[in-house]
Amino acid sequence: MNGIMARRDAIKAITEYKPEPAALNFNESSPTEIFGCNVFSDKVMRQRLPKKVYVSLKKTMELGEKLDPSVADVVANAMKDWAIEKGATHFTHVFYPLTGLTAEKHDSFLVPDGKGGALAEFSGTMLIQGESDASSFPSGGLRATFEARGYTAWDVTSPAYLLENPNGTFLCIPTAFVSWTGEALDKKTPLLRSQQALNKQAKRVLQLFGVETRLPVTCYAGAEQEYFLIDRNFVFARPDLLIAGRSLFGAKPAKGQEFGDQYFGVTPRRVMSFMMEVDRELFKLGIPVKTRHNETAPSQFEIAPIYEQGNLATDHNQLIMAVLRSVAKRYGMVCLLHEKPFAGINGSGKHLNYSIGNDEVGCLFEPGDTPHDNAQFLVFCAAAIRAVYKYGALLRATVASASNDHRLGAHEAPPAIISVYLGEQLTDVFEQIKHGKVKGCKQKCIMNIGVDTLPPLPRDPGDRNRTSPFAFTGNRFEFRAVGSSMSIAGSQVALNTILAESLDYIATELEQATGGDEKKFNAAVQAVLQKIMLDCEAIIFNGDGYSQEWQQEAERRGLPNLRTTPDALPALTAPSSIALFTKYGVLSEAELRSREEIYLEQYCKTIETEANLMLRMAKTVIFPASFRYQNELAQACANMQAINREYGTTTLDQLTANLRGMQKVTYELQELIDSPRGGTALVQARYYCDVILPAMAEVRKHADLLETIIADDLWTLPSYMEMLFIR
Ligand code: ADP
Ligand code: MG
Repeated sequence: MNGIMARRDAIKAITEYKPEPAALNFNESSPTEIFGCNVFSDKVMRQRLPKKVYVSLKKTMELGEKLDPSVADVVANAMKDWAIEKGATHFTHVFYPLTGLTAEKHDSFLVPDGKGGALAEFSGTMLIQGESDASSFPSGGLRATFEARGYTAWDVTSPAYLLENPNGTFLCIPTAFVSWTGEALDKKTPLLRSQQALNKQAKRVLQLFGVETRLPVTCYAGAEQEYFLIDRNFVFARPDLLIAGRSLFGAKPAKGQEFGDQYFGVTPRRVMSFMMEVDRELFKLGIPVKTRHNETAPSQFEIAPIYEQGNLATDHNQLIMAVLRSVAKRYGMVCLLHEKPFAGINGSGKHLNYSIGNDEVGCLFEPGDTPHDNAQFLVFCAAAIRAVYKYGALLRATVASASNDHRLGAHEAPPAIISVYLGEQLTDVFEQIKHGKVKGCKQKCIMNIGVDTLPPLPRDPGDRNRTSPFAFTGNRFEFRAVGSSMSIAGSQVALNTILAESLDYIATELEQATGGDEKKFNAAVQAVLQKIMLDCEAIIFNGDGYSQEWQQEAERRGLPNLRTTPDALPALTAPSSIALFTKYGVLSEAELRSREEIYLEQYCKTIETEANLMLRMAKTVIFPASFRYQNELAQACANMQAINREYGTTTLDQLTANLRGMQKVTYELQELIDSPRGGTALVQARYYCDVILPAMAEVRKHADLLETIIADDLWTLPSYMEMLFIR
């Protein structure tokens, strides 16, 4: 075994587990006191900044106005004093490289004072811009190797915060990460750009409805995060979980999730303690986590915050993932964020609840009380429908990864086909709009022709459909195809931009049709809605997205079904995508190409690592156990009475046959991995997808069968049953 801990030791260690004393007790400090205590929040700023500086900074934060450089020094100084008072020695510009992770580089506040002592220093320039060696982050050819510098730029709209460690704290400043020529090397930069594009086009449409707003129209996001908790002693005994975050081997357990007894069930005590500490840590960081519960699979759970402005929600989701991982360790567990840690058991996703609006205009995906409001709602809703119809493949590409491929298209998560669920009532309204005759709605309310007489729509969306990748749920759309380990930035970048494009289209249509004549407005709205429904209705699907019939029906409708990452990623650089992103200034062609390249590379690296790991485990764990048992069995057969010998030799034959099969496929996988190959990143990715993955599946098939034959005491890998049910 990998020398650390084998199965028996792992189980023994778990039975001896003693929980650590709680780090912080809600009885001693109330949740309201804790909430945001480690954030350089509005409250702190109001207390610590001169009024003029505070007002100026707020303007930048809320209205998106350019930052006045003279305020930066004052803010930096206040931030430093606040951080040092709370035990900080260092600051770090936190950024979000294309690996999907969070990166940080620490700098001390201290500088020598020239007299043998030291001063704490933090200037406006240090706050606004950091310089970082970017060479170890993927750039996809954007950055020449001789110019390895990358710059981090302060994101004023996401507040700075302190992270705690038993030995002190450090100040974290959320930043954007760009190359020296200004190209985005991260996930935040395009998100901020896409919000600007969305704001501009949404405001044009609102203006046509006579709505003015001072605040930018922005996107909101609420991410439901699923995860697994596995005792860390098991993980130490499973190199696959440790390195790849998923099990590469493992026979199907006798009990899985068939009983449906896990969802919303009583949470085990250790897990509950973990959840409470997670909530506390997140409260300190000002993250409004709201719900926590068991999920469908054994040992699977979910945490969801109240939705926030999209950029903030994205930073907060990254922090949620980091806190889940670190707190799990304190409770002797490992938090697996992988999309499919266990084959045959539900995987983990991250539902991205998405809406747009602001504090003045409210949520633009929410039906209103007046016909006028409802017409506006239908226009924004139709914009979303058109956007997803036109750019479904692009949206699909934003959730493509080696790990998410294991989940999408299985019978637990939305299929790789992107469609929109509207619910019965809204579908009915749009159906009538399509036919140009809006007579009534299913709730039996009278609805005359003309949008100004649409009845109030009930806010409750009625039925829920859990099989749709993009479902309308009353005041938002829920994009369910995002993977549990992914950043939610990419999907929002796409959603904001494709929505901006559709709103641009609608505004232009309305402007042309009315020519400034208000009396023509209602008819123009009616006409554009009808046109959108006629053009885009193929994207609407309210049925069972998991069914086989839908696969065929979607094909008839001409909807793309991009099953794997190499199928999906090229949409990033399709001519329509390049035109879209460049038109709205969100991503340049070079930036898009680099992104596609990086994601393809990541795909290849992930599978290559897994294949190598699989070979290693086969050679050092599975074969040795098999040979030992073979030997034992052969000896036993030789000593057996004739009557038993028959049974013994049958088992031995079965074992030997399987072992031969396993040797053959292992050898083949090794050959395929070793064989020289070249070509573009896409060609390589196809190879991993079409050649390596099926070869890996063969190895697994044999190994999993061996697990069910070999003597239990010789099998050192913790089983699915043990990992999923011992807590
Ligand atoms: P469910 O499991 O039924 O989908 P949850 O309560 O687990 O519901 O999660 C719903 C998520 O949707 C929460 O994060 C919530 O804050 C978010 N949400 C609610 N309304 C909106 C909205 N208008 N825009 C974006 N997210 C929203
Ligand atoms: Mg949900």
